[in-house]
Amino acid sequence: SQLDLEPMLVGLNNAQRLAVTNPSSVVQILAPPGSGKTRTLTSRVAWLLCPPHSLDPRNVIVATFTVKASREMRERISKLVGNGVESRLVLGTFHSIARRYLIKYGHLIDIKAGWGIADSGDSLGIRIIKRRKSPLDPSQVRSRISHFKARNSSPAANALPPPSTATIQSTQARVKDISAEDFVQIFQDYEEALEASNLLDYDDLLLRCLELLKHNPECVSNVEAVLIDEFQDTNLVQFELMKLLAWKRERITIVGDPDQSIYGFRAAEIRNLSRMVRAYPQALVVHLEQNYRSSASILLAALEVIEQDHNRPKKPLTPTHAVGTRPVLRRIPSAFLEASWIVSEIQRVRAMTGGMVELGDIAILVRSANLTRNIETSFVKAGVAYKMVGGLRFYDRVEIKTLLDYLRVVQNLGNNDALARIVNTPARKVGDATVKTLLDEGDKRTKSMWEIIRAGLGGIWGDVKIAKAAEKGLSDFVGIILSTQKQLEEDDQGKGLVDVVEFLMRKIGYEDYLRRGYPEDFDARWSNVSELLSQAQEVERLDDDEDMLPDIDGLPQSQVGQGRLQLVLDRFLSNTALANEVKGDDGVVGRDQVTISTIHASKGLEWPIVFIPAVYQGSIPHSRADDTDEERRLLYVAMTRAQALLYMSCPVRNSQKDKTKLSQFLAHRSLHPLLHSRGPALGFSSVQSVGRILGRECPSEVQIQTAVDKSGIASTLDDQFPDKDPSESDSEGDGLDEDGVRLKRRRLQSEQASS
Ligand code: ATP
Ligand code: MG
Repeated sequence: SQLDLEPMLVGLNNAQRLAVTNPSSVVQILAPPGSGKTRTLTSRVAWLLCPPHSLDPRNVIVATFTVKASREMRERISKLVGNGVESRLVLGTFHSIARRYLIKYGHLIDIKAGWGIADSGDSLGIRIIKRRKSPLDPSQVRSRISHFKARNSSPAANALPPPSTATIQSTQARVKDISAEDFVQIFQDYEEALEASNLLDYDDLLLRCLELLKHNPECVSNVEAVLIDEFQDTNLVQFELMKLLAWKRERITIVGDPDQSIYGFRAAEIRNLSRMVRAYPQALVVHLEQNYRSSASILLAALEVIEQDHNRPKKPLTPTHAVGTRPVLRRIPSAFLEASWIVSEIQRVRAMTGGMVELGDIAILVRSANLTRNIETSFVKAGVAYKMVGGLRFYDRVEIKTLLDYLRVVQNLGNNDALARIVNTPARKVGDATVKTLLDEGDKRTKSMWEIIRAGLGGIWGDVKIAKAAEKGLSDFVGIILSTQKQLEEDDQGKGLVDVVEFLMRKIGYEDYLRRGYPEDFDARWSNVSELLSQAQEVERLDDDEDMLPDIDGLPQSQVGQGRLQLVLDRFLSNTALANEVKGDDGVVGRDQVTISTIHASKGLEWPIVFIPAVYQGSIPHSRADDTDEERRLLYVAMTRAQALLYMSCPVRNSQKDKTKLSQFLAHRSLHPLLHSRGPALGFSSVQSVGRILGRECPSEVQIQTAVDKSGIASTLDDQFPDKDPSESDSEGDGLDEDGVRLKRRRLQSEQASS
């Protein structure tokens, strides 16, 4: 049956429609938050799949910024097009797209089969840096290395020269307090260690894919179209990758917003937008100007913040929703009370909206992950379910990480890093000193730690001095790994990855080990393990298509001599590694859970109700950030995630008990009339406006009153949280005080008229 485009365009405005159906081969959609960029991009994919183009979905590449965003995009496309077409698209993050090409064609550039992905949290880099006894914070050096690789200066990529001392001195990736020579040395050690363990780090995935496509452009000769979301946060390597992926047809659509560029600290380049115009002079630029996400008052406050950047070109953005409730900005005596204020507000909103909003409609967005502790504690106390996105990541939990490390070793015996972490977990009398000796010996003899152990157990310890007890421990360990590998090779009927993992856990005595090691919270940890097991099951069920690229005539697929279960394990491990790529971008948040996320991980998403705590100097802008404009954009991104209600709060004393100053971005006088600083933010009229913005049915005033009475929640929280800051005065009154907003809106309109 032929696809019909028209129904897919229903609900788009004119500008969006024109963007979707623009015949230009290269289209740039540059538009502010909530203007429907992602929605437009999604529809353009559908447009390409419909006649007259009728592209084969396997020849369409769609890159999103996070795993979560790609899942959402897949769902949206599935709704539009149906027929399971969405699962055949080459859709994912740049990293996962690169991974697919490397799995299929890595052999063309001599990547050894069975390679793994080094998670950025892996300690490999750290170990290398520590070994050189540099006085630096290893994770900082590690991130500088990544900065370099993201700018395409890796000693590993053959085609590219290693960074010279001069380049290092002249770039922003310069590492303070370390000589350029030392940095190059650490860099090279790090690259060699990865290579020795047959691991690629995230940057390598992109760099090696770039190398592959440079030398073998025919790998992508089938590609008909490339579409990229959140383009403002692509880095140089991703830009080059886009060019190569699209070389054949040069049909490219990118969407982005320079005002939302927030990954400069990770080498993203806003300049890619101008590079785009230079690389494709035929590119057509489309603007969208209507915001469909937020209430007018939220939008105007957010604009007031971003407009403080005077170098930024002004651009029109009109709200489509009514004014709604002004955003709240509260000063609260302490970080502890701030957390309880958030809980009370959540309970109050829930009571007052009488079931209209669920916990899943609420997000707490923080500048840095360490701000969540107080909030988590009060959520636990109050029994509010939540899901952390961005703090302690699921795959970094010790009970998960240990198990994954075992599997990593089973998959790849050369993975020194994983091996070093688990060889003595549970305790096997193999002490840290022994581990270090084994690693050093391996470095000396350019052998993996596993090889040193095997040789040793065979009687050849060389310079390694080892205690009898440790030898016994190592031999037990080797037994566990080898027997699990055997399980993986014997692919009996009906055996799944889960069975292998369960076998492994029995061999380790894992349940017992966790029960004894973590008596207080064993249950929670064990349920995490079960979660991991069900993910392992999931991987097997996943449609194989999702990982497939179409065959190209004349290009041999990689001849991996691997069995089915080994491939499943490969996929499982690289999925877990890629989910960690953007911090905490894992798993799905339930409808009955509040989301706690970093602002960085909230990009592109939206929630009816958003809290932004800790809006003080040093938190946002962050004390360690050197780009104030990027910090301002972060706040702008956070504020524009909110649809109906936005709460910002600033403790007078932070959790270190230091006195704080309100964030410079919110201290501007012009913002005062746009924000509530005291008085209840929520009344009947506001609840109604929430309903209108979300398109949900609103309870009656009587129902609300009854609910509030029953819940015993105060309709105002001012007594409980006195507002101590005299600098902030505001009119009392409920919900809809429109004056400030009206004023601002008039200004905006007259500006537009005059431009
Ligand atoms: P961001 O810059 O934050 O990524 P965006 O520009 O990608 O935002 P979308 O996420 O595509 O915006 O859309 C924002 C919201 O507006 C979504 O809920 C979307 O469904 C809705 N929306 C987009 N276009 C329209 C429209 N024409 N009519 C009604 N709702 C729309
Ligand atoms: Mg978007």
